[in-house]
Amino acid sequence: MPEAPPEPITAAIALGANLGDRRATLESAVRSLALTPGVDVLRVSSFIETAPVGPGEQDDYLNGALVVQVTLAAHDLLERLQTIERVHGRDRAQTQRWGPRTLDLDLILYADRVIDEPGLHVPHPRLSERAFVLEPLAQIAPQMRVPPLDTTVAELLEGLRRA
Ligand code: ATP
Ligand code: CA
Ligand code: CA
Repeated sequence: MPEAPPEPITAAIALGANLGDRRATLESAVRSLALTPGVDVLRVSSFIETAPVGPGEQDDYLNGALVVQVTLAAHDLLERLQTIERVHGRDRAQTQRWGPRTLDLDLILYADRVIDEPGLHVPHPRLSERAFVLEPLAQIAPQMRVPPLDTTVAELLEGLRRA
């Protein structure tokens, strides 16, 4: 019997860039994802300018978020995100953690799944402290649930604003 098609999963992806033509890079990354078999881009946030968090002097970031529907396993989606980063000039051998980069794509949420594997942690472990992720994501998916917490994207953003 043919294998049943994988159940579509709604996932959230964060985009960031602080080198080069940031807007062109983010727009191109969205197009690359939209062209990926097994990925439907459902919603795209506006892109917001944010102050860098990380070592040394860095330029401001442009950040955004996407909601996608995927039939890819989470690790295959992450692999695809890393390929798109590379195509857009991200050099993992050269750049320090949290240093400047042409493109950063993080898998933030993968339905209501909690994933703890080497190299893949979902929900993204630093989600609740990052306005630069929560703000754009709350524009397009305020009610998306964040496991294992009994909370939503909008509530996390609200908590951050109160802090
Ligand atoms: P941060 O994770 O704090 O946003 P970063 O995006 O700068 O930092 P990277 O250097 O891009 O970190 O990635 C470091 C590693 O994080 C990658 O090799 C990847 O395997 C791992 N990783 C774990 N969970 C995730 C996730 N949910 N999305 C993207 N990368 C992840
Ligand atoms: Ca990141
Ligand atoms: Ca990353």
